[in-house]
Amino acid sequence: MYNLESLKSQLNQNASTSVQLIDSSLQKLEENKDLNAFISVLTDEAKAQALESDNRRQKAALHSEIDGIPIAIKDNLCLQCSKTTAASKMLENFVSPYTATAVQKLKDAGAIIIGKTNMDEFAMGVSSGSSYFGPVKNPLDTSKDPGGSSGGSAVAVAAKIVPLALGSDTCGSVRQPAAQTGIVGFKPSYGRVSRYGLIALASSLDQIGFFTHTVRDAATALSIVAGLDPKDNTTIDAKSDFSEKLGESLEGKKIGVPKEYFGKELDPQFKTQIEATIDLLQKNGATIQEVSLPHFSYAMPCYQVISTAEASSNLSRYDGVRYTYRSSEAKNLNDLYSKTRGEAFGEGVKHRILLGSYVLGADAFENYFIQAQKMRTLISEDFDKAFETCDVLLNATTPKAPLAIGESSSFTESDIYTVSASLAGLPAISIPCAKVGNSPVGLHLTGNYLQEAELLSIASACESIIQYQA
Ligand code: GLN
Repeated sequence: MYNLESLKSQLNQNASTSVQLIDSSLQKLEENKDLNAFISVLTDEAKAQALESDNRRQKAALHSEIDGIPIAIKDNLCLQCSKTTAASKMLENFVSPYTATAVQKLKDAGAIIIGKTNMDEFAMGVSSGSSYFGPVKNPLDTSKDPGGSSGGSAVAVAAKIVPLALGSDTCGSVRQPAAQTGIVGFKPSYGRVSRYGLIALASSLDQIGFFTHTVRDAATALSIVAGLDPKDNTTIDAKSDFSEKLGESLEGKKIGVPKEYFGKELDPQFKTQIEATIDLLQKNGATIQEVSLPHFSYAMPCYQVISTAEASSNLSRYDGVRYTYRSSEAKNLNDLYSKTRGEAFGEGVKHRILLGSYVLGADAFENYFIQAQKMRTLISEDFDKAFETCDVLLNATTPKAPLAIGESSSFTESDIYTVSASLAGLPAISIPCAKVGNSPVGLHLTGNYLQEAELLSIASACESIIQYQA
């Protein structure tokens, strides 16, 4: 199996050097070029770092257990002296002067970034098809999209180019593409991982997450990047070992199944697979309990109001004056703003800025923005109630199989089952549990706030019971 654990032991047993691991990652990337998973490839830097890692190994001076292992990061995460485009023409030539905290922590641990992955423009989308650099393809069926917005990172792991990739998840952008490519996608609690250096979409919802092949690898990655960061005031000081509960059985674990997540939007074949998985978990000791999240159907409209409002504000900095694309046609300052933004933002991004500006305007603020904030509180309270009797909640990650490339529009049903956890700031994970035809079915588990160790323990137990075959 290709994963962090196996590469670690290859290195530890001298079965491979870091230079060899990096070379084979780069070769794999080249063989899979058609998938369009990467926006930039850091060949020279990666090779140089691999040599340094091998030297550290010889001197028994490794930085961590993942020293020398290849990884990839989504192209909305800043990396000093490298292009960070957020898949937009607006930032096509932006070279970041600093590195995101989460990325820096992985670098400090000795992980080697081989490239920056393709995504939906400014992380807005569900297909990775709105990238200025062209759509990403799903390795399981190249006529289909891999999900989004972190599709490139999902594909980099699913195609076994790297064992770990970072993405960002605002309402499902890690969990949904993980489900659609048959791998693990994990979003921690809001505040667990610093957002410093992550290009903001909706700041109260964005959280950096991980793509891996196993739950254990996701726990390893979180242990490295979690923690308080003076550069991000929303981070919390509650560092812990997220692997400590791995290996526990499901005996006595209480899994809640929210009944609202089995409505008519759920593909009947997906439903059958999720129900079969629930039976299997029950046979293996889990206590299954039906619960209700009564405000479920308001979650997506609530997200659309809050996220577009925040996005319109966050994206106002791209004005052509400082580090972005600049229109050469402008005759005065206002003209510079409008021509720059008109020429460099894609259609979907413009729609959201307009919608977000509208809901923040004097006429609509009370009726939309304030109502959405109230709804967000009710959605969180639904979870609080469910967690009075449950350890985790279970549902399908996506209601159906991915669409053909070019068919998905930006706001669709595709993340209706992942959005509520984001609004409530809760940790959630998608693990593959079955297949319908060529398409993997994701099992989505939501944990209580800051209960990642418990969530990962239950997810890992489910993973070993399910024994998913890619
Ligand atoms: N589909 C969501 C959106 O387009 C995904 C956002 C995300 O999680 N980055 O807003």
